[in-house]
Amino acid sequence: MNAPSNALLGPVQIRDLAGRLGVRPTKTLGQNFVHDAGTVRKIVRSAGLEAGQHVVEVGPGLGSLTFGLLEAGMTVVAVEIDPVLAEQLPLTLADRAPEWSDRLTVVLQDALTVTELPGPAPTALVANLPYNVAVPVLLTFLERFDSLDRVLVMVQAEVADRLAAPPGNRTYGIPSVKAAWYATARRTSTIGRNVFWPVPNVDSALVLLERRAHPQTRATRERVFEVVDAAFAQRRKMLRGALAELAGSAAAAAQALEAAGVDPTTRGEQLTVDDFARIAEALDDQAGTAPDETAGTTPDETAGTEQDGAVAAERGSTSPAGTTPLVRPGTARP
Ligand code: SAM
Repeated sequence: MNAPSNALLGPVQIRDLAGRLGVRPTKTLGQNFVHDAGTVRKIVRSAGLEAGQHVVEVGPGLGSLTFGLLEAGMTVVAVEIDPVLAEQLPLTLADRAPEWSDRLTVVLQDALTVTELPGPAPTALVANLPYNVAVPVLLTFLERFDSLDRVLVMVQAEVADRLAAPPGNRTYGIPSVKAAWYATARRTSTIGRNVFWPVPNVDSALVLLERRAHPQTRATRERVFEVVDAAFAQRRKMLRGALAELAGSAAAAAQALEAAGVDPTTRGEQLTVDDFARIAEALDDQAGTAPDETAGTTPDETAGTEQDGAVAAERGSTSPAGTTPLVRPGTARP
């Protein structure tokens, strides 16, 4: 888009920028920067966007993917937790491709705490997500920004498998069901580790999520997710046992499962998100909970924090929010 064809960042520019800024990539913030323009363009292509779309990017880092999105004509709001990186990004852009500057806004904040974004509602999320908060960030954004109808994220290959797994699959679990509440998910390709600096010790993969209507249910989304968490907390157990605490007893759980048309001796890994929604509804009916007319539409402040042990391990620590709200192009503090 009237673009300098060499604006994207390669290994030399990444090293040079990091050196000048004194950036020492941290594992805590999942800082592995892409230094391969071919990979960046592949990510952008895989997102299937049209020029002019409003895109939110989480964790722009030094700008590798951001520049790819700008090159393809997108308008980008980029949410970055690291103040050094957030403040540098508009400067790098002004230096390398000033003609794109009016299409980028940088927000210095922990993505998990973002409840609103500047400018028009974004229709897509495209990100090379920090590994330790990938699933919570993804779920939080799908929950908080219903304008997002397309998401293309690069995550650890194992997490990509979990997000895209169908029921019955070995990797099907909490992230699969919760992502399915919002979207269909498909793993599109694998990305080798050599396109990153520093080189991570796992492969990555791209996942494309396309928004769909959530299951029709009288239960709230929070309640459905509570049932999902309980079902997978003890994934070896039959559902009547796994849901006993939620229902009050194994017998009550069995009754609710039967009312929902689910075999009480089955396990969570066999069920679709619609099954979970019916179970939540049956448990509510059993408990005499008043049906909630706004079921499933309640904004959720905690979507990102509900996950099973394995994903929790991927998550690591989540630093408290950076509080400076906006760093606009060309106005970053020196
Ligand atoms: N997009 C860049 C790229 O592809 O080279 C960097 C990706 S790197 C895997 C992840 C980025 O997310 C880092 O810049 C890191 O500082 C940032 N980050 C980590 N945790 C974050 C959070 N909670 N909110 C916003 N950004 C975060």
